Amino acid sequence: MTATPTIAQALARAQSSGLNRHAVRCLVLQALEREPDETAWLLAHDQDALPAAAALRLESALRRLRAGEPLAYITGSVAFYGLRLRVDARVLIPRPDTETLVDWALALLPPAGRVRPSVLDLGTGSGAIALAVRQARPDVRVTGVDASAEALEVACANARRLGLMVDFRLGDWLIGETARYNLIAANPPYIAEGDPHLPGLTHEPLRALTAGDQGLDDLRRIVAQAPGCLQTGGWLVLEHGFDQGPAVRALLDSAPWSQVQTRRDLAGHERCTAAQRAPDGGQSEFTAKK
Ligand code: GLN
Repeated sequence: MTATPTIAQALARAQSSGLNRHAVRCLVLQALEREPDETAWLLAHDQDALPAAAALRLESALRRLRAGEPLAYITGSVAFYGLRLRVDARVLIPRPDTETLVDWALALLPPAGRVRPSVLDLGTGSGAIALAVRQARPDVRVTGVDASAEALEVACANARRLGLMVDFRLGDWLIGETARYNLIAANPPYIAEGDPHLPGLTHEPLRALTAGDQGLDDLRRIVAQAPGCLQTGGWLVLEHGFDQGPAVRALLDSAPWSQVQTRRDLAGHERCTAAQRAPDGGQSEFTAKK
C-alpha cells in the first residue's frame, strides 16, 4: 500500500508534470476546501497528509486543467479589482487587462457631490466592471447590461454575494436605452472571427469574444449608439484588442467626440480608448480634420 502523500508531495508531483505552479496551488487549496488566496496556509501546512477525499478532488481538477479548461472555471472564481467573482462557462473570465479600464473609468467620474453620477457597463458578463465601480464608488448609480440572460444570472449572483447594488438588465447594447449616463464603459467582444487566438479560448462563450471579421462590429455599434445615452461632457471608455487602437480612435474621430485618448495595459499594449461627448453642436477637436 502506498503511503498517503503530504501536501508538498502532491504539489511537487503535479508541478513536475509541467503544470503551472500557481494553478496547481489553487487547485490543491480547492481540493482541501480552502480559499484560493490561502497560499500562506498551504506553505505552513505542506507537511500535512493530503486526505484521500482531497486527493480524489485534486485528481479530477488536474484532469480538467490538463484538458485546457481555464483555472477560473475549475475553481469557479477569479480575483478582479480586489473582488472575488464567481464565474463559470456562462461568462467570459474577467482579465487583469480590464482593471486598466476600471481604473480609468473611476478617474473620469465626477467626484461625489450633490448629483449622483451614473455609470453603465455594457456587456457586463460576470458583472466585473459594474461591481468594481460600485465597490469603489458607492455613491454612483451603476447599471449593467448584457444580451445574455445566462450571463446576467452570474452577474446578479455576484452582486448579491458581494452585497453590491447594481441594476442588471437584459439589452442589446444601447437599443431602447433612454437614460443619459455620466459614463459608459464596455469590454465588448473584439476578437476577429478568424483570429489565431480563438482556438485557445474554446471554453469561453464565443458570443463574448468575437465581433465580425475585424473584431470591430460591436465597438462600431457602441460608438454609434453612445452619443444619445451620454450626458454632455460624459465619457465613453472602451476596451479593445492590442492592435485596434488606431481603428477605435478612427471610429471616434468625428462629432460629438472629443478628447480621444488611449491607455496601455500592464503588458504595454494599447488596450482602452476613451472619448468625451462634447456639447450638442459643440466643436470636437477632431471634426475639423475630416
Ligand atoms: N481580452 C480577451 C482575450 O484576448 C478578449 C476579451 C474580449 O473579447 N472582450 O482573451
